[in-house]
Amino acid sequence: MLTEASTYDELYGNFRWEIPARFNLAEACCDRHADGTGRLALVYLDENGAITRTSFDDVAEMSRRFANVLRADGLVRGDRVAVFLSQSLELPIAHMAAFRSAMISIPLFALFGEDALEFRLSNSQARAIVTDEGGWEKLSKIRDRLPELKKVYIVGERTPAGTTSFWNSVKAASPDFRLVDTSADDPALIIYTSGTTGNPKGALHAHRVVLGHLPNVEMCHNFLPRPGDLMWTPADWAWIGGLINGLFAFWYHGIPLVGHRARKFEPQAAMQMMADLGVRNVFLPPTALKLMRQAGVTHSGIKLRSIFTGGESLGGELLGWVRETFGVDAHEVFGQTECNLVIGSNANLFPIRPGSMGKATPGFDVRIVNDRGEEQPRGQRGIIGVRQPCPCTMLEYWRNPEATSKKYAGEFLLTGDLGVQDEDGYFWYVSREDDVITTAGYRVGPSEIEHTLMKHPAVAMAAVVGIPDPIRTESIKAWIVLRPGFAASDALAREIQEFVKVQLAAHEYPRFVEFAETLPMTATGKVLRRELRTRG
Ligand code: ATP
Ligand code: MG
Repeated sequence: MLTEASTYDELYGNFRWEIPARFNLAEACCDRHADGTGRLALVYLDENGAITRTSFDDVAEMSRRFANVLRADGLVRGDRVAVFLSQSLELPIAHMAAFRSAMISIPLFALFGEDALEFRLSNSQARAIVTDEGGWEKLSKIRDRLPELKKVYIVGERTPAGTTSFWNSVKAASPDFRLVDTSADDPALIIYTSGTTGNPKGALHAHRVVLGHLPNVEMCHNFLPRPGDLMWTPADWAWIGGLINGLFAFWYHGIPLVGHRARKFEPQAAMQMMADLGVRNVFLPPTALKLMRQAGVTHSGIKLRSIFTGGESLGGELLGWVRETFGVDAHEVFGQTECNLVIGSNANLFPIRPGSMGKATPGFDVRIVNDRGEEQPRGQRGIIGVRQPCPCTMLEYWRNPEATSKKYAGEFLLTGDLGVQDEDGYFWYVSREDDVITTAGYRVGPSEIEHTLMKHPAVAMAAVVGIPDPIRTESIKAWIVLRPGFAASDALAREIQEFVKVQLAAHEYPRFVEFAETLPMTATGKVLRRELRTRG
């Protein structure tokens, strides 16, 4: 945990990791707050607008009951339990049950289709899964191909043949369960990366993972906890951003979450919900912020205390809009599933430089290195590296020693992202190594061009890729979604090209511009540039 400080240097300099030898996520994020007083854990808003409030006492008890169910059904320490649910009460119950049993949980996005599901369930050799009727519809089609999967627990009214009712089993089970003793280094969950660059990789994390997220979450949410804190994110509680920086980190502090199952992200409805429920802390990925700006949301009644954003480059362009709309600054963070959030910002600790991701998170030694893990001088572009050992790095890629060893060079974990650190310690994002465009002898990162495009009044979203070019190796192509009120035309394309030439650099202007209604995205809201590249 951070000791509060008024300057960044003090905060960074005073930080010491304190990782207890014995540590269990269920104990840390739930049982500690289940003190019999009915402390609020979850405010759940269902699709019909009904609100249910659940206490830590109840979550703890139900997860003890479900731990008994898993044990009675023959699951043992180390077995994998998949959780294939959208934001719901059952989701944390299932995770906490796995953690207290020293099993390994596998969070899965509710929106995954059959292929995505099959890849992750067979890769992890999951023995049990908790899902709902919608999930079962997909799962039932592939179950034959998953010989390791023994138990399917269904949340909902119907329990099709071969499945078990989650709630009936929970209700019938004993509420007494003794937490299985775990060390902080014991495996707790496998989180698959977003699969932005290829097949997702299963990052196996230990129970200590939540401790690794605290310094960044605390710094970028303006220190936690504060009276009245209440957290919400539209991100699924299935990837590191929603589950660990959201649910687990806030529950570690005993701060309640708002849960909501939204079919689609509706910007104005999200604003209304935040105002009605008194949400104070949010994690809004850049895509969500862009959609909100595009929709021209109104903001009466909103009382946010902290806005946390990341997962993709935010760019300086949205900062002013965020401040005007919400009355607080957007604090950008950078990290990845494998190594947690290693960079972040907080406008109260240091001035935000538009376009920069911020500074190293206390506890993390972040440097710009080359692919041999050698440090590069300030101001030079290179790979963002995180010095190891670091107590909160993943244990390994699940059963993939080759990928695991490729992830490290010298003393560093290589993020695979390129960046620059300036003289004052600020980090600037360039691009993923794979997204760099080689054009006419220049190596150009798409982010900078995208940020410039975003400054053009007609542009709502932009993605830049390199497409093959016989002379230049690659040519720069921009895919653009227009803001309402603008129509695609050659003249507008030329105007946008000219804009980049003048604003940024002549060699970085997109030779090709294509307008689209939407951009292809991962379930985590990241633009799939590799898909745009194959479109040509
Ligand atoms: P995969 O590894 O499967 O290709 P992924 O890297 O998108 O997918 P995640 O671990 O969910 O999977 O995302 C981490 C990545 O997201 C980072 O490596 C980086 O490329 C990007 N990212 C995160 N935060 C930022 C940020 N603030 N600015 C730019 N990019 C970011
Ligand atoms: Mg990655």
